Amino acid sequence: MKRNYHCPKCYGILNPNVKVILKTECGGRTALLLFSPQPGNYHVIAPESFPLKKDDEVRFSCPLCSRDLTSKRDKSMAEITFSTPGGQGGRVVFSRLYGHHETYFVTKEEVRSFGRHADRDGVNYWGAGPKD
Ligand SMILES: [Zn+2]
Repeated sequence: MKRNYHCPKCYGILNPNVKVILKTECGGRTALLLFSPQPGNYHVIAPESFPLKKDDEVRFSCPLCSRDLTSKRDKSMAEITFSTPGGQGGRVVFSRLYGHHETYFVTKEEVRSFGRHADRDGVNYWGAGPKD
């Protein structure tokens, strides 16, 4: 089942095909990066001219409207929204640190965490739903 990812500001679709496209800024440079739409898959495609090191803090923005996707709830995270054909939807919250594998899918009902650094259980972090 295909999950669509959207910009929370302009509602533009961020995964027109098999990858999620985000504009990324780090150290004064900008690039488009491709991410896997599969939760827990952290393979990133970046241009060779845009080398990223572990723990580099990157700023994600929408490739369509250019607005900043940094989470208002936690500045160390970025946020986009998702929807499924079944009508389910919610937010995807992920770390802004390169190599830091921490992702949460937040819906009204639950928070599902992915990635080996996603260790914030016990904290009902976004005030939404019980932990998985
Ligand atoms: Zn946008």
